[in-house]
Amino acid sequence: MSVLKQYNFWLITGSQNLYGEEAIRQVNANAADIADALNRSRELPCQIIAMPAVTTPEAITKACKDADYDDSCAGIITWMHTFSPSKMWIAGLSRLQKPLLHFHTQHNREIPWGGIDMDFMNLNQSAHGDREHGFIGARLRLPRKIVAGYYEDTEVRRQIAQWQRCAVGVAVGKTLKVARFGDNMREVAVTEGDKIEAQLRFGWSVNYYGIGDLAAIVHAMPDDEIAEKLKQYDENYLLATDRLDHVRYQARLELGIRRFLEQGGLTAYTTNFEDLHGLEQLPGLASQQLMADGFGFGAEGDWKTAALTRVMKVMAEGLPGGTSFMEDYTYHLEKGNELVLGSHMLEVCPSLAAETPSVEVHALGIGGKNAPARLVFHGGEGPAVAVSLVDMGGRMRMIACDVEAVAPPHAMPNLPTAHIMWRPLPSLSVSAQAWLLSGGAHHTVFTHALTAEHMRDFARMTGLEFVHIGAHTSITELEKELLWNDIAYKFQ
Ligand code: MN
Repeated sequence: MSVLKQYNFWLITGSQNLYGEEAIRQVNANAADIADALNRSRELPCQIIAMPAVTTPEAITKACKDADYDDSCAGIITWMHTFSPSKMWIAGLSRLQKPLLHFHTQHNREIPWGGIDMDFMNLNQSAHGDREHGFIGARLRLPRKIVAGYYEDTEVRRQIAQWQRCAVGVAVGKTLKVARFGDNMREVAVTEGDKIEAQLRFGWSVNYYGIGDLAAIVHAMPDDEIAEKLKQYDENYLLATDRLDHVRYQARLELGIRRFLEQGGLTAYTTNFEDLHGLEQLPGLASQQLMADGFGFGAEGDWKTAALTRVMKVMAEGLPGGTSFMEDYTYHLEKGNELVLGSHMLEVCPSLAAETPSVEVHALGIGGKNAPARLVFHGGEGPAVAVSLVDMGGRMRMIACDVEAVAPPHAMPNLPTAHIMWRPLPSLSVSAQAWLLSGGAHHTVFTHALTAEHMRDFARMTGLEFVHIGAHTSITELEKELLWNDIAYKFQ
């Protein structure tokens, strides 16, 4: 079921009462026209609803309150068709809880050279009115996205579409529940974090559940459902093992975890190989299947990455390219062809697969449990971004790293895990220096579907520090940015 389609966005057009009723009628007609054109284009993932133009402080405040109150509204888009004195907007905008996009556009693309008169200019003056609106956004220090340009232009629509995806990511976060099956891996720092800060900032509710309670549900899964699940595996994947009892156990795990999550309204979860009491295998194939169905996942108790995987899967809905929990694992340091091999013990989402995954069973050297079944495949090529969320103490930092995924130069027949290779930008050396300086984790969410720009929009909406590593990165500039950010966030 589409998550994006459950949300809409309100176009709130500003004006004032100086121009007369006829002008306001025209403003409303033009706003409806723009909303229709955007909706009909199918370039936006969510519908835009044109609301009646607002011309008084009371109407503006009511529109902002109504938007906040409406669960299906994921954000508002403001546009000043005419001049709308912005002191009228202070009460409404300063209480607004939803993401804001200031759309600086115009109903007419071209000036009607022969026909333009004072009435036309007064009616179509967003160049004027949006400057007043921009000021109040700046004066109120509102986190907002500004999209400037003609509403029929592809680039303008791309920016609105991207912002909508991020706003829905923020909206689903408000009710996102993460199940921690077990605690964090012992002694690991970067997977730790302030769960109260995460709930305050994103709405993510992160709670512990006893592994024994999960085991009870897993072991109660009926045989016929497990048989059906095995049939699905056989249809979708290559069954490259004769140890079917191990595969059957992952089917049991998949069904049991799914049941547990669905019963609790949970859409993300973590596991920890150190904490599997009562389970026979670490969930491998099971977690890969659940990720493919849109659940967030984090290994070793990494609830931040689990929640972020869920949010980014929602943001990426319907876009080409997969999204997965990921780990930077090992390097190929051939001069001039430096590459990262990304993988995990088991849990890489098959949405990244460039070939039909094979179901294999191999022993896992840690955890002391039975050999887990897992999907093995290599990932595809193309631009991607790896995103990490770390707790800096007092605030969270998001780090997004641009990479170019490449086909593995050689087969790796003995590697028993799903994997993907990439070349970080601008180079492995600069990217890795920047990542380590920023404190980026070994766990990330890796996506072909989203870009760093999406994540920047998400960070802006949630008041999150954002560090972007890419072709532009210079270590000396980054060191300054990190220092200045530290100072700036002390004042927040
Ligand atoms: Mn890991």
